[in-house]
Amino acid sequence: MSPTHAPVGAARQGSLRELNLALVLGRIAAADRPPSRADLATATGLTRATVSAVVEDLLAGQLVSEADPAPRAGAGRPARGLVLADQGPAGLGLEVNVDYLTVCVVDLAGQVRHRTVHRADLRPVAPADALARLVDLAGQARVDAARQGLTLAGAALAVPGLVDDSGQVRLAPNLGWQDVPVPELLSAHPPLTDRVPDVPALVVDNEANLAALGELHSRPPGPASFLHISGEVGIGAGIVLDGALFRGVRGWSGEIGHLPVHPQGRPCRCGGRGCLEQYAGQEAIVAAAGLVRAELPADTATARLAELAEGGDPAALRALHDAGTALGVAVAGVVNLLDLDTVVLGGGYAPLAPWLCPPVLAEIKARVLTAAWSPVTVRPSTLGPEAAAVGAAGSVVRRIVSRPAGWLNRAG
Ligand SMILES: [Zn+2]
Repeated sequence: MSPTHAPVGAARQGSLRELNLALVLGRIAAADRPPSRADLATATGLTRATVSAVVEDLLAGQLVSEADPAPRAGAGRPARGLVLADQGPAGLGLEVNVDYLTVCVVDLAGQVRHRTVHRADLRPVAPADALARLVDLAGQARVDAARQGLTLAGAALAVPGLVDDSGQVRLAPNLGWQDVPVPELLSAHPPLTDRVPDVPALVVDNEANLAALGELHSRPPGPASFLHISGEVGIGAGIVLDGALFRGVRGWSGEIGHLPVHPQGRPCRCGGRGCLEQYAGQEAIVAAAGLVRAELPADTATARLAELAEGGDPAALRALHDAGTALGVAVAGVVNLLDLDTVVLGGGYAPLAPWLCPPVLAEIKARVLTAAWSPVTVRPSTLGPEAAAVGAAGSVVRRIVSRPAGWLNRAG
């Protein structure tokens, strides 16, 4: 508890104002069409005068702006609707993965305003050096954001591994990271974003979780419950149940890549055998297709597979079919357990979905008890390969929308 003793009346007034700001801004964010002040009064139950005062605060703080008035038949001045501002605060999304770094900036309305993907094999690179490269890219993003009238209000970093509450990466097997104190390493650099009360300067989370959140909050809204699978060198899943990410007891749920699909099969980096990753991870597919990954620039591995499959190359088609079958076995187990009806293939799986979906669906049909009368949809992510970074930036933006007072009360 804070030791300061604010006058009770002032505290109440402060918190009431904060509640009203969040209530009105939340309505504007959720609306299908730009609501007028009158619409907002009806929707929130607040008086017109209160709504007008709150909207003035939000306009002054660059959290909302007035939409162009819609043409209206008949006499009278058309009411101007309110939309989330395209200048003002924005979220910084970062991702470190096995063979790329991604940085993106997302504005309040969810638009991606800056994105950089830096391709490099990061396995031989020390964590501190990989993070230093990311800081450089983030600095360029901040300059570009400022040029567009955007202020970075917070950052979230996606990593392909197990992250604890303090932001330490306990284990990212495919990157070779173990017990990496990411916040401490980043604190050696200048801050990535401005300081904004109520918005964490940096959140570190698993990339599959952040990609699933990105999918959950994409427009138009999809289902409230689904399984999102990120297929890179490793395979991670985000489990979304009733509109919320299911994190598990320690935040480490979703390690679908280490579900055994052949219990006595190939050894895996995790120490187990026959894990899904050994049959449906990007390296496994590329090897099965007869491609030598080391000879391919990292960014072209997936594109090359898709190109070969498109052209009817038998080895590529067989590799994708076998990977899809292994993936389908694992997915069927999850669907049986959790009763889900939607599976989203994200990350490197998205461009390969035309060839992965049929064998995944075949396994679901053969293995899921309820599939006969309750079909399961398997589809590619709409967010593209940068889903985790976009989801990371989006998580910052949603924090600002749910607690706008922090941004409005910031110094300077
Ligand atoms: Zn494993």
